[in-house]
Amino acid sequence: MRSPIVCFRSDTGTPYAYDRGSNEIVRLAEPLFAKIRAIHERGDAGSGMGYTDGAEVNAVRAEDERARSLGLFADTPRPRMKPVFCDQCRAHAMESLHTLTLCITERCNLRCIYCSHSGLYPRERPHSQAVMSLDVAEAAVRYLLDVSKSDDALSISFYGGECMLHFPLLREIVSFAERAGNGRHIQYHFDTNGTLVRPEHVAFFLEHDTFVQVSIDGPRALHDRFRVTRRGKGTHDRVIETLRMIDLPPESGSSDELTPRAILEPEGGRPCVGRGSQKSRSLVC
Ligand code: SF4
Repeated sequence: MRSPIVCFRSDTGTPYAYDRGSNEIVRLAEPLFAKIRAIHERGDAGSGMGYTDGAEVNAVRAEDERARSLGLFADTPRPRMKPVFCDQCRAHAMESLHTLTLCITERCNLRCIYCSHSGLYPRERPHSQAVMSLDVAEAAVRYLLDVSKSDDALSISFYGGECMLHFPLLREIVSFAERAGNGRHIQYHFDTNGTLVRPEHVAFFLEHDTFVQVSIDGPRALHDRFRVTRRGKGTHDRVIETLRMIDLPPESGSSDELTPRAILEPEGGRPCVGRGSQKSRSLVC
């Protein structure tokens, strides 16, 4: 039987346990981490990890029992919840959609150590050469336009992989959406690792109502530990160059703004930086 717990460390080394049964992530005290892992993942109550002190093992077992009494670490996973597709959801999906996310490519020019597509995670797809065809993208845009109400604020997000690897395709899709939208306002979101953005791309962003989200893990030392090229080279300098490019001075005529938003961990932070348009200053990360 699979262990009900998966022990792991965050990229800054903080120990956590994921409880499959409750679907909860619990932060563990450092001494408990290795022992919980020994009991649950190796099933050896500590002996395989060199814990021979009976009192110590009993203390860990007591903690384990306490966690179980709180409903965590159950051997039998809780029954799967069935997704409910109610009339309201159906109506939303079929009649009033206003956001479309296009995963236009599974290709990426980077190989970030923690990437969910690195092949390390069994349930996640690995990087591949797959690219969305223009036909598929156009059909999806048509669907969005058909099922959204005409007064809805519409948005189309481009996601990957690294979407900027396929800038000509992005441009074609945006151009199609503008034509097919027939005057309806659409905002375009671009999620990028920030290593391929060039001045002509910035000019394109400025021609449209766009929201560009650039991933950066913080200062160079932190960023370059994980966000690397295929050859393991850090990318911080190039990302900063991109941020400088899109953080236009007021005299450029743009009223857009560059806004940081960070998810902070105890030993560091992993912020994303977004450039929101005049019409949408909110920033997601
Ligand atoms: S940029 Fe994104 S998709 Fe590419 S390797 Fe890094 S985390 Fe993965």
